[in-house]
Amino acid sequence: MTSKDANLILEISDLHASVEGQKILKGVNLKIHAGEIHAIMGRNGSGKSTLSKVIAGHPSYKVNSGSIKYLNKNLIDIEPEERARLGVFLGFQYPVEIPGVSNLEFLRVATNARRQNRGEDELDTFEFEDLVHERIKLVQMNPSFLERSVNEGFSGGEKKRNEILQMALLEPTLAILDETDSGLDIDALRVIASGVKQLAQPDTATILITHYQRLLNEITPDYVHVMSEGKILHTGRKELAIELEKSGYDWLNNSKDLMEEN
Ligand code: ADP
Ligand code: MG
Repeated sequence: MTSKDANLILEISDLHASVEGQKILKGVNLKIHAGEIHAIMGRNGSGKSTLSKVIAGHPSYKVNSGSIKYLNKNLIDIEPEERARLGVFLGFQYPVEIPGVSNLEFLRVATNARRQNRGEDELDTFEFEDLVHERIKLVQMNPSFLERSVNEGFSGGEKKRNEILQMALLEPTLAILDETDSGLDIDALRVIASGVKQLAQPDTATILITHYQRLLNEITPDYVHVMSEGKILHTGRKELAIELEKSGYDWLNNSKDLMEEN
């Protein structure tokens, strides 16, 4: 094992997965080291959200073959709740509303589960309120949102801020943000981007799933991957995202050279 591999946070090998009996992921390979930010781009329907849900352990998605190693553990054998406690965080493309559950209480339970896993003391309501009021500044969210039911009646932008607040409290080791930028105006986008940047640490890894270069203007990825038909078709550096914005995805298709390089 090289010293670089000792820093591996996520290693996906030849991953095949299906949903509703339909094969979606068809051989995904991906290695992410501590301190890295990876962007995953690609057309609608290429399997980006499926990949993120498979990593998080969504029960509707079945792994057919291949492996997902996270901090040297075989993630596929681990229950989704345990994955979250181990520091795998998925910010959803469409965050769910949970009527009747207070956002503050929801965040406290999740935060304490994560703290317990790290051997830290649980926070009581007062301690948690201090923490949440400190972290909420990062996303410039009005504290009144804490008193409401989780995401209920939140606008698209408010839901995304709430996801980043959740992330700021859970301090994930692997953060996957699925189109967190979609539907945001430029000010909200900057707030989200600055929050994500501050949360990215030398010992954590971040996957940004996005359609648009504009998020990547705010957060510079170390690597940019393009998914197509359930595979990572090409990997490049930040310049690749700029090229994709300019020229679309067509020039990558059927390019034998590019596929061999990967
Ligand atoms: P992306 O995020 O890249 O737009 P998705 O992973 O959402 O792509 O979807 C990939 C393919 O999987 C699409 O053809 C989509 O219709 C299919 N798919 C995803 N989730 C489901 C589901 N729950 N049931 C049936 N098909 C699904
Ligand atoms: Mg998607």
